[in-house]
Amino acid sequence: MKNLSNDVVIHVENDIAYLQYKKLLEYDDIIKHAYTLKKGNMDFSLHGSIENYHDIVIENYKKICGKLGLNYINVVRPYQTHTNNVQSIYGKINKDDIDIALDELKDIDGVITDKKEIILSTLNADCILFLIFDPKNKVIASVHSGWKGTLGKIIENTINKMVEEYNSKPEDILVAISPSIRKCHFEVHDDVKIPYEETFKYTNRLNEIIEPIGEVDGKQKYKIDTVLVNKIMLIDMGIKEENILDCEICSLCNCDQIHSRRGSNGGLFGVGTAMISLI
Ligand SMILES: [Zn+2]
Repeated sequence: MKNLSNDVVIHVENDIAYLQYKKLLEYDDIIKHAYTLKKGNMDFSLHGSIENYHDIVIENYKKICGKLGLNYINVVRPYQTHTNNVQSIYGKINKDDIDIALDELKDIDGVITDKKEIILSTLNADCILFLIFDPKNKVIASVHSGWKGTLGKIIENTINKMVEEYNSKPEDILVAISPSIRKCHFEVHDDVKIPYEETFKYTNRLNEIIEPIGEVDGKQKYKIDTVLVNKIMLIDMGIKEENILDCEICSLCNCDQIHSRRGSNGGLFGVGTAMISLI
């Protein structure tokens, strides 16, 4: 995998590979974090069948949490449905199992906590995941933002909630951006392009965000830079540019090592997870 960013460390071991952000590792005595890659069948998807996949997912959480020195039982994973809803987590729901696929966390795509030991985990296969940390107030978040979540500005909802509920100051907040499908591969039609144009024309940067790439089968296609859109929103909210930690890795360019929905060509695909925990 081409590592374009100086911001990350990629650990490749016999049965697991994961990515960490150098600037978050500076706080390794306060938080643990990781984004999991494919190696070692590290798939966290349920694919609609909890009975069959639950054990595998549990084993994989045990494996990555073991690497980080965390107790996997404290995993809290929202039931993501491409919303812009963000929820605070005040404690575990299950006492003897991880919190996964729970109705209580349904239609939630971002989770925030200031509680120690809770492990926030969101999933992707091309979508963006954010790991967010306020080192001053010791608040963390894990957020899923695909093209719909980005259009719904879930990152703004998350930062706003951290400011309002946890007294975070934007200038203190670190935001790490996971591997995701990048502009090189995110091709869309008018059904995605038009709402992006409407929603983000205020930025005056549409020419950077949307690039027409000509007609395919009689329909105009475009490339969209969803990472740039999120960076613009973060800067506008007062997040410092140097505190936006972008791995600069495209999931589809690297789909041999990173879960990618578009890279599966319509077949079954796995998902990676971005995890963060206050210790
Ligand atoms: Zn790419």
